[in-house]
Amino acid sequence: MQSTMQDVPLLISRILTHGSALHGSSQVITWTGEGEPRRRSFAEVGARSAKLAHALRDDLGVQGDARVATLMWNNPEHVEAYFAIPSMGAVLHTLNLRLPAEQLVWIVNHAADRVVIANGSLLPLLAPLLPHLKSVEHVVVSGPGDRSLLDGASAQVRVHEYEDLIADKPETYDWPELDERQAAAMCYTSGTTGDPKGVVYSHRSIYLHSMQVNMAQSMGLTDQDTSLIVVPQFHVNAWGLPHATFMTGVNMLMPDRFLQPGPLAEMIESERPTHAAAVPTIWQGLLQELKAKPRDVSSLGQVTIGGSACPPALMAAFDELGMRVCHAWGMTETSPLGTIARPPARVIGTDEEFAYRLTQGRFPASVEARLTGPGGERLPWDGESAGELEVRGPWIAGAYYGGQDAEVLRPADKFSEDGWLKTGDVGTISPDGYLTLTDRAKDVIKSGGEWISSVDLENALMAHPDVAEAAVVAVPDDKWGERPLATVVLKEGATADFATLRAFLADEGKIAKWQLPERWTVIEAVPKTSVGKFDKKVLRGQYAAGDLDVTQI
Ligand code: AMP
Repeated sequence: MQSTMQDVPLLISRILTHGSALHGSSQVITWTGEGEPRRRSFAEVGARSAKLAHALRDDLGVQGDARVATLMWNNPEHVEAYFAIPSMGAVLHTLNLRLPAEQLVWIVNHAADRVVIANGSLLPLLAPLLPHLKSVEHVVVSGPGDRSLLDGASAQVRVHEYEDLIADKPETYDWPELDERQAAAMCYTSGTTGDPKGVVYSHRSIYLHSMQVNMAQSMGLTDQDTSLIVVPQFHVNAWGLPHATFMTGVNMLMPDRFLQPGPLAEMIESERPTHAAAVPTIWQGLLQELKAKPRDVSSLGQVTIGGSACPPALMAAFDELGMRVCHAWGMTETSPLGTIARPPARVIGTDEEFAYRLTQGRFPASVEARLTGPGGERLPWDGESAGELEVRGPWIAGAYYGGQDAEVLRPADKFSEDGWLKTGDVGTISPDGYLTLTDRAKDVIKSGGEWISSVDLENALMAHPDVAEAAVVAVPDDKWGERPLATVVLKEGATADFATLRAFLADEGKIAKWQLPERWTVIEAVPKTSVGKFDKKVLRGQYAAGDLDVTQI
């Protein structure tokens, strides 16, 4: 029997028209670095999105599933692109402005982007790439920056001013009734190994994911909230926040290019957001800033941290400041929300609560999970058996973008034969469905046939008051196969030596004796990937090249 329900496609244009009409007075507030922030209502964003869609179609000839790329910070024009491009049926392609030039060129050519909307401040990055971007016909520039950088940069590219382009266009657009399964947006993985891989989100996947973000057991924000969206709009759709906030009228506080700890502290103090989202590195920086120069950050009741593991010391320090961390796990391939660490009701107020908050979190109803052991066997959810996490669900990638080649579409190391996504993350799942990641499959340290979790060692080290940051990597060892190398960034004025740190790890059995690193080095900063994660490949390379000054104890 067929249902008797209406079959209304889940489209981005529905989120846009809903948000701009029913939450029309909610705002996108944007930091400018000096003076008053810019303020734009959701109603204005809606009208300007319609204008942008007219301009893209009528002036720039964007038709069908043409790819329109953005090279932008988090700001309202980027939000307009988020809504206009998919709503008109085209495909939004957010470019990661921190990628090396040659990777950006590769990605733009692979996606065959026809238009690039760029912030003026990013033209020094874009201009030298233009001659190599084979498919790009138009560049649209928004915000302050030196336009002359584009003079003569490429004969085939026409340059437009964003504001001029949309100025006299109608404020409404007859958004087409699209197939909800068609492409809405794409994002490439950061590509630490091999070529970057394109993940293509559908209208349906984004719509359902946004509803999940809004659930009370997820980020659960309402129109009384203001969310400081530090996670870049080019990093997995800013974790779905621009779409989710438009559904519920949550105000967005956008840092634009002011992502340093000082301006972030200022914007929290003056705009009083109730929620914020970013990777741990950003919060470590903010913490140092607040210690050096205290500010009133009391408005920030909830901070979503993901992208890499949240160190326990960071969570505890934030708790003390009244900012409650909620840990979440996800990937470009998972839209990204895969788990979120809301502890179960039975542990609230007990000693167990903190331990639950430190896990990567519980799977929501739409994400199914399983653990696979090294021999392909299914492992139980007993909180102890560690294996590779595999997931499936309506906002989980089932393939990569790129033609017919099965090895590109569904590489065997990324998808199981029955279509589940192999995450490359290793961990355990508790009987009540909480995920604890112990490592990336490629970062785990295999010592004498046993696994050592680099994350456990890092978390324990970062709890020492003299340690600003620590990354632990596997290095070859004649006797054990691999052993951990601890690379440590010390705080200013720190006095701890390696023996002290080693003893600190061993203290109270935090780390088992056989797992304690014997190789140690002090570094100035942990190298980071384009999205702010520890880049352990670089550290392993430096060690192999003999570039690190290693002490053995
Ligand atoms: P990306 O696609 O760049 O967002 O990277 C996804 C990867 O980041 C995941 O596969 C994990 O290895 C890592 N990751 C994301 N969130 C967390 C987290 N909360 N804890 C540990 N690792 C994480």
